[in-house]
Amino acid sequence: MRKPIIAGNWKMNKLLSDAKGFVADVKNNVPSSDSVDAIICAPYPFLYELVKETEGTDLKVAAQNMHYEESGAYTGEVSPAVLKDLGVTHVVLGHSERREMFNETDETVNKKAHAAFNYGLLPIVCVGETLEQREANQTMDLVAAQVKKALDGLTEAQVKETVIAYEPIWAIGTGKTATSEQANEVCTHVRKTVAEAVSADAADAVRIQYGGSVKPANIDELLQQSDIDGALVGGASLEADSFLKLVEAGK
Ligand code: PEP
Repeated sequence: MRKPIIAGNWKMNKLLSDAKGFVADVKNNVPSSDSVDAIICAPYPFLYELVKETEGTDLKVAAQNMHYEESGAYTGEVSPAVLKDLGVTHVVLGHSERREMFNETDETVNKKAHAAFNYGLLPIVCVGETLEQREANQTMDLVAAQVKKALDGLTEAQVKETVIAYEPIWAIGTGKTATSEQANEVCTHVRKTVAEAVSADAADAVRIQYGGSVKPANIDELLQQSDIDGALVGGASLEADSFLKLVEAGK
């Protein structure tokens, strides 16, 4: 049985006071991490405070990106060593907004996945197609290629701990959710890709999230699907009540 994983991606939203208020409302109300992983992916400047505020609770804190080098002349970047030092547990890699706007590539995602494991962080690797690619029937090949490149060179044990977020770009922040069948079809393909590229055991263990306009009203149906183990949620993770409903659905 794979443990469900619900991650809220705040993107570039909230001020520190809002973030702390959210965490104060949520941290003692999330279900036990024995039943579901509840994670907030916060902007870098909040991480130190939020990790401190959530210590000893079942709410985990993730970063939304990182560099792959430990240190050096990379002005404006944040290293995996720093995230680990702060107590961050997970890091989102290759979100479509970073691929589209900040030159993230499959190659940098792969380097970052290796760096995450080297520093004891768990990667949430995002993959997904544009509307144009879906309409051209390229979804399966494209997503399989993204998955293979992201995982390239990781050990079987590392792949088992990786989280893959399938996020069709046309469904992110648009209010258009893929139907649960559409979402599951691609998640099944992701699992098959992991089986072929790594092993059947790795495919069985890897957790696959769906992301794209997930909200309390549609999460139950998505989580009932055979290959969807959780959700990466943007807009609907910004309010404490809504995030708690999403996490409860994962329980
Ligand atoms: C996301 O940020 O990864 C996302 C899926 O956003 P939204 O839930 O707002 O579509």
